[in-house]
Amino acid sequence: MNSVTTLPYRGRFAPSPTGALHFGSLVAALGSWLRARSQNGCWIVRIEDLDPPREIAGAARQQIETLAAFGLTSDEAILWQHTRHDAYAAALERLLAAGQAFACWCSRADLQRSNGLHRSPCVAAPDPQRAPAWRLRVPDRIVGFDDRVLGRYEQSLMDCVGDFVVRRVEGYFAYQLAVVVDDAAQGISEVVRGADLLDSTPRQILLQQWLGLPTPAYLHLPLALDANGRKLSKQDSALPVDASDPRPALRAGLAFLGVARERLAGLRSVDALLIGALHAFEVEAIPRTSSIVRMHHGLS
Ligand code: GLU
Repeated sequence: MNSVTTLPYRGRFAPSPTGALHFGSLVAALGSWLRARSQNGCWIVRIEDLDPPREIAGAARQQIETLAAFGLTSDEAILWQHTRHDAYAAALERLLAAGQAFACWCSRADLQRSNGLHRSPCVAAPDPQRAPAWRLRVPDRIVGFDDRVLGRYEQSLMDCVGDFVVRRVEGYFAYQLAVVVDDAAQGISEVVRGADLLDSTPRQILLQQWLGLPTPAYLHLPLALDANGRKLSKQDSALPVDASDPRPALRAGLAFLGVARERLAGLRSVDALLIGALHAFEVEAIPRTSSIVRMHHGLS
């Protein structure tokens, strides 16, 4: 695999502005920040505002302010994905020219006979009256990578994902395409994010290969789950973290990432906690399994 292993280290935190920052996104922000700082690297915030219908007005600004209250500020200008459509369009053009992407008029019902996955050729005929979705034609091969925390992960794109959408019917570019274009444009050397995106990674590696882009290293963090074992998410009103006193959530987030609580004892300010955490942080101590966070009983 074509891997970026040379210094300098460049990491990122890439929230979608679909709600307030919650404990799960705080864990991803902290994990990516600790990793970048521990490698003397650069940490960049990117706002993934690709999907206007799912966005909440003011959420991006609020996320940026909440991060700042936790002592986390981007080392470079924040990249907003809504400014990047030309780059995504150029990537799609390249995939189309190579025959690796195609326009698709299939409906959800059309895909039912193949378990909801799209397999070429299309069932529906081209319809000049309607806008198509644009899909990647996935090859019949296994795509795998070695995750820094979770180890080897392999996926048959054809069996698990099918020909996936890179630009939606509504005209919006898909996360999978945008993330690959931007990770490369920003020279990201390692992607640190929640384990819910582990199974997106093979799609992203395929896109990197087809677009001639380097593949960064990947490190997926355990997920914070609610009492029902579901991932905390911005949409289902997972409790936002309290930016007016960040310290309890900060301590809880650091403990969640395997930073020993006793190493932070007596540290009172946000900055002192972050510096203490940096000394104590070890990739080997990051738990491999997701766990339940009892948000309602306080985070301290
Ligand atoms: N924007 C994605 C999210 O908020 C994360 C993307 C990534 O880290 O690759 O879930």
